[in-house]
Amino acid sequence: MIRSWIKTGAAAVLSRTGMDRVVGSLSGSRGVPIVIGYHRVVEDFAANAATSIPSMLVSRQMLERHLDWIGRRFRFVSLDELSACLDGRNRSRDRIAAITFDDGYRDFYDHALPLLKRKGIPAAVFVVTGLVNTTTVQIHDKLYLLLVRRFASRNWKPADLALMLRRFGILLPNLAAKTPFQATRALLEALPQSSLQRVVSALESQESISEDTFKPFHSLTWEMADKIHRAGITIGSHTRTHVLMTNETEQRVMEEAAGSREEIEKHLGIGVRHFAYPSGQYNRSTVNAVAKAGYQFGYTVCRHRDGRHPWLTVPRTLLWENSCLDFGGAFSGQILDCQVHGAFNVVNRCRQHHRASQEWGNGQR
Ligand SMILES: [Zn+2]
Ligand SMILES: [Zn+2]
Repeated sequence: MIRSWIKTGAAAVLSRTGMDRVVGSLSGSRGVPIVIGYHRVVEDFAANAATSIPSMLVSRQMLERHLDWIGRRFRFVSLDELSACLDGRNRSRDRIAAITFDDGYRDFYDHALPLLKRKGIPAAVFVVTGLVNTTTVQIHDKLYLLLVRRFASRNWKPADLALMLRRFGILLPNLAAKTPFQATRALLEALPQSSLQRVVSALESQESISEDTFKPFHSLTWEMADKIHRAGITIGSHTRTHVLMTNETEQRVMEEAAGSREEIEKHLGIGVRHFAYPSGQYNRSTVNAVAKAGYQFGYTVCRHRDGRHPWLTVPRTLLWENSCLDFGGAFSGQILDCQVHGAFNVVNRCRQHHRASQEWGNGQR
């Protein structure tokens, strides 16, 4: 609550005085275009937040409010137009913004696409190619839902998670997760996908979740992806299986980056230039792999840049249902203003270690 008051008050002062852009530039966003990222788009936020990580959700209604606000201040551009501005081919002086959606959930097709078409807004969808045309659920969604159930069960203690991991030989000494979200994040950040799969299987053996519960988490079909592409939306890659690339072997990272690009090209017959790092996690070797796989533009979720590959580390601001609410729970354009200019990055520090190097400017890690 106190945090919300401070956020609202700070946003009002910063936005009214234009200081949001100054603070944004201090946090490393100077000269960086506005790229916004969303995940799932739903009809009813509250209903879906019972089973999904809330910060991955935005209601169609709230998305429209965000887009209307951004659209009054920026010209929406496709990622291809944005990239032309980035590499100097297009010298337009307009203030531009690009809208992106990660993970390729089916609800993009149901809820976001009609809205974007009606408003004539270009956008991009980053698909997880191994999940397209399947009913397989993203591992983070499954893990979170299983942990929600475990944490809610009467005989569960937070320390039980560490005990279960120890049985697999997985030691996470600093695992002090008090909530299912904290536990999900800690596991995702620490473990390769093969270990996550073992944790999920162990949790599933104790708790069965019906297929119906997982339906809202399904991905697009290739037919839908084709229609989305034909509607003028850019299709980019988000790997084959949504591995957090910094936790995997070099070989796996390369297969994920190159394989997903090939699959999109094969199914849709289009070139793929844009890549989004799952959970925004990257380091020098993942950037190298993305470059080697032939991508020209990569999108992260923090303001750090790789000096060797600045266009493969383009920062984005992730927004969701509650990211732009004031202390009274109402939508605040001033908070959105601060969010898009990265003004809150001064306090919301990046948790990643991109590996120290002199090539990384702006105090980056
Ligand atoms: Zn993702
Ligand atoms: Zn970072």
